[in-house]
Amino acid sequence: ATPTAIMAATGQAARRGLYIRDGAALESAARLSVLIFDKTGTITEGRPTVTRFELSPGWAADEVLALVAAAEAGSEHHLGRALADYVRSRNLLPLKADSFQAVPGQGVRATIGGRDVVVGNARLLGACGVETAAVETAMEQMAAEGATPVAVAVDGRMAALFAVADRPREGAAAAIRALHDLGVKTMMVTGDVEAAARHVAALVGIESVVAGASPARKLEIVEELRALGERVGMIGDGINDAPALAAAEVGFAVGSGTDIAMDSAQVTVVGGDIAKVAEMVGLSRRTMRIIG
Ligand code: ADP
Ligand code: MG
Repeated sequence: ATPTAIMAATGQAARRGLYIRDGAALESAARLSVLIFDKTGTITEGRPTVTRFELSPGWAADEVLALVAAAEAGSEHHLGRALADYVRSRNLLPLKADSFQAVPGQGVRATIGGRDVVVGNARLLGACGVETAAVETAMEQMAAEGATPVAVAVDGRMAALFAVADRPREGAAAAIRALHDLGVKTMMVTGDVEAAARHVAALVGIESVVAGASPARKLEIVEELRALGERVGMIGDGINDAPALAAAEVGFAVGSGTDIAMDSAQVTVVGGDIAKVAEMVGLSRRTMRIIG
C-alpha cells in the first residue's frame, strides 16, 4: 500500500477509537488468521466484584480482611482492586504493608506488621509452601460457576477464600462473531483457572481455551502459532500480556489497561471496545485491496 493510503486509513481508524502506532500494523492486520484474547479486563469488563467470602476455621474476618486490603493496596490488578473495594465497604482501620511483591499472573505477597500475607491462586500458595487441600473443593466449585477463586494465607496457613466474578463486556460475543465472519480464528489464553476460563469462553463464543498460562506461556503460545504459519494477533490489557503483545504480528492493547500493555502493543483500542479489532481487520483489508 502507498504511504498515503496507509496514512488515510490510520486517520480513519483513529476517529473510530483505534490508535495505530505504525503503518506496518495496519498491513499485518489484513492478514491475521488468529486472534488471541486475554480474559480478565479484555473479554470481561475488568470490574470484578467479590461474590463469596469464606473464612478458614480459627480466623477472625476483620483481621484477615485488613491484611488482604493492605496486601492488595499496591496491586494494579483488577482482582486486587476488587478485594480492596470489598474490604473498604467494611470500614476497617487500614494497615500498611512493610514490603510488597506482585507475582504477575499469580497474586501478591506482602509483609504486614511482621506477618507474611499471600493472596492469589493455588499455584502461588503452593509455591509459598501453603497447604491448600482443605479448600480445593470450594475452589473448584467457584471456578465451575465462572468465578475466580482467590486464596489468602497468613504466616503459611490458609486463612480465607474469595470468589471474584466479572462479566463479559457488552458486545464481546458480537465482536467474536465478527472475527469469525472474517475468517479469523479466536482463542483465549488466560492466567485464570480452566473452569472459569471455559465458562467465559462459552458465553462469548470462543472455541479454544488455554488456562493457567503464565506471562511466559502466553508469549510461547504466540511463538508456537507463528511457527505453525499462523498470522497471530494478540489483545490484552495487563503487564502479564506485555511479552505476548510484543511478539504478536499485531498487538492490541485495551485502552483502559496498563501503560505497559500499551507500550508493548502497536494498536490501542480506546475504551476497551474489542469489536474495534474486527473493524480494523476489515478496514485494513479494504485499504490493501484498493492499493492492490
Ligand atoms: P488474566 O490472564 O485472566 O488477565 P492474570 O494472568 O492477570 O489473569 O492472573 C492470573 C491469576 O492470578 C488470576 O486469575 C488470579 O488467580 C491470580 N492473581 C493475579 N493477580 C492477583 C492479585 N493481585 N490478587 C490475587 N490474585 C491474583
Ligand atoms: Mg488481563
